[in-house]
Amino acid sequence: MEGIDFSSAERHKVVIVGTGPAGLTAAIYAARANLAPVVIQGPQPGGQLITTTDVENYPGFPDGVMGPDMMQKFEAQAERFGADLRWGMVTSVDLSERPYKLVVDEEKAVLADTVIISTGASARYLGLENESRLLGKGVSACATCDGAFFRDQELAIVGGGDTAMEEALFLTRFASKVYVIHRRDEFRASQIMQDRVLNHEKIEVLWNTTVEDVLGGDLVDGLVIKDVKTDQTRELPVTGFFVAIGHKPNTYIFEAWLDRDETGYIITKADSSYTNVEGVFACGDAQDHVYRQAITAAGTGCMAAIDAERWLADQEA
Ligand code: NDP
Repeated sequence: MEGIDFSSAERHKVVIVGTGPAGLTAAIYAARANLAPVVIQGPQPGGQLITTTDVENYPGFPDGVMGPDMMQKFEAQAERFGADLRWGMVTSVDLSERPYKLVVDEEKAVLADTVIISTGASARYLGLENESRLLGKGVSACATCDGAFFRDQELAIVGGGDTAMEEALFLTRFASKVYVIHRRDEFRASQIMQDRVLNHEKIEVLWNTTVEDVLGGDLVDGLVIKDVKTDQTRELPVTGFFVAIGHKPNTYIFEAWLDRDETGYIITKADSSYTNVEGVFACGDAQDHVYRQAITAAGTGCMAAIDAERWLADQEA
């Protein structure tokens, strides 16, 4: 924040940080409430859905919709009501006093009476070159989103937490076989989820195993896996590879001000989007580590805008 001149900075009633389904839904509601929200789009305008293909589980699209197309519709709807979408990334904030101070791209100063945080989360990946090359072409970090594209195929999922268990079980609805690849000899997941996985006839667990490479030209056709006890590698022929090694919420710039859980998700007060700082609201995947769906993000975005509107009205009363 040093060196930034806030004396002539623009001041807005609502500044929304992030433009996934949560941020853009907040923008639609805040704009329709005449709050003229400014929306700072962030490094990936449209959020995680920009990297997906067909979205088949968002209500209102009976024939499915491409992720980027859906986010364009969200944007158009927000702009139709006057939301001011701006390129840029919020690089630092000062929430110590009102109006709150935000710095965009390390240079532009913005003042905000309320801030809605919808910065989302990023799936963690193994970091293999072919994993990123084949993302969306057989590699996915969301079984709920993409599992149905793999009917009657053999699939693999890496991870040993609740997400990996839940997604492996979900994949059994479509796949002929699901390999759960875990680097250790015991899962981190809750016992009940482990039991379901271990007792499922379509699931085979490959313990003490790591994924060394993802194979395939245009589409995934296998993995190279390594038994860490013997150091032996082999190929595993699968046509889908799901990564479930955790998510990282994009909340580090709020670290000094907001209560977050041990993995960085912003803590909101029960049944609301209120954070521990008055007038600062959080929604979507920056705050929700359980559901993480576009529709739930949109729902909490709506909550954040309504909470902000009511909070502003209380201040003015
Ligand atoms: P977790 O952090 O719980 O688990 C991540 C898993 O990925 C761990 O098994 C970890 O292995 C493994 N892993 C991490 N990095 C690597 C790597 N580089 N290579 C290979 N494996 C790796 O994340 P989850 O997303 O599963 O869960 C997050 C939180 O959400 C948890 O608190 C969970 O309980 C909760 N959750 C709850 C659900 C529910 O209640 N229905 C559903 C889903 C999640 P290791 O164990 O060796 O560290």
